[in-house]
Amino acid sequence: MQFGDYEVLFLSDGTFKLDGGAMFGIVPKPLWQKEAPTDERNRMVLRCNCPLIRTPKGENILVDCGLGRKWTEKQREIYAIDERHDLLGDLAAHGLKPGDITTLFHTHLHLDHCGWNTRLNEKGEPEEVFVNARHLVERSELGPARKPNEIQRGTYLSPNIEPLDRAGRFEVFDLRLELAPGLTLERTGGHTVGHTIFRLESGGQKAIFFGEMMPTVAHRHLPWVMAYDLFPLETLEAKRALFKEALRDRALVLLDHDPNHFAVKLKEGEKGKLEYEPVA
Ligand SMILES: [Zn+2]
Repeated sequence: MQFGDYEVLFLSDGTFKLDGGAMFGIVPKPLWQKEAPTDERNRMVLRCNCPLIRTPKGENILVDCGLGRKWTEKQREIYAIDERHDLLGDLAAHGLKPGDITTLFHTHLHLDHCGWNTRLNEKGEPEEVFVNARHLVERSELGPARKPNEIQRGTYLSPNIEPLDRAGRFEVFDLRLELAPGLTLERTGGHTVGHTIFRLESGGQKAIFFGEMMPTVAHRHLPWVMAYDLFPLETLEAKRALFKEALRDRALVLLDHDPNHFAVKLKEGEKGKLEYEPVA
């Protein structure tokens, strides 16, 4: 998709499944199940959407890098990881190699967002994949990623993080960063302490990547906040502000985990309910 001076490619690292209950926090299943069908183990399908922003200067800015493929058979089964489709294949389909990525912006460092930071070499050790990229992450995300507590331990996996951290490859910023003209990163918190979104403004258009503030279109309802979110009240307020902004500016809304949509437009429906129109 051409977006002002930028080209945005909608890449993905394929699909996986997570517990439907965990995806909707305190919302009872009878309310969410119409919008998010589940399998016999109560898991719903999610896709790892990773937009690639190509700048007029020839930079390739990748946003998150999916689950990667360092999984054991047991983990592949638990998460129902669909190995038929992956991010490196999507890059190759556009004539790109991992070495062509100039910047990797990490919204946060959970296992389904930075998996391709590394892959296993012949010795079975994790080695870096995007060797020429700056790895950008908001400063406060790194502390818990390095030393996760009992709640965070299952979501920050050391083979995705430690090899790059040891080599000093993470470049941190505080709260906000203008990465390129009109491309701004901004910390929201909510999901994790350092969770960060981006806005892209060019040629009179605006796009907002909501990250985990609205992982799927079903999460457009304000109180539908994931149980994974460490600071749900922050998520609620961030969503409220982002929805208002997206409606006001008629922004394209980019989704990180929707299984069917990379991009939608939000609109006000009946009784002030938020509805959406698929775009990509
Ligand atoms: Zn996450």
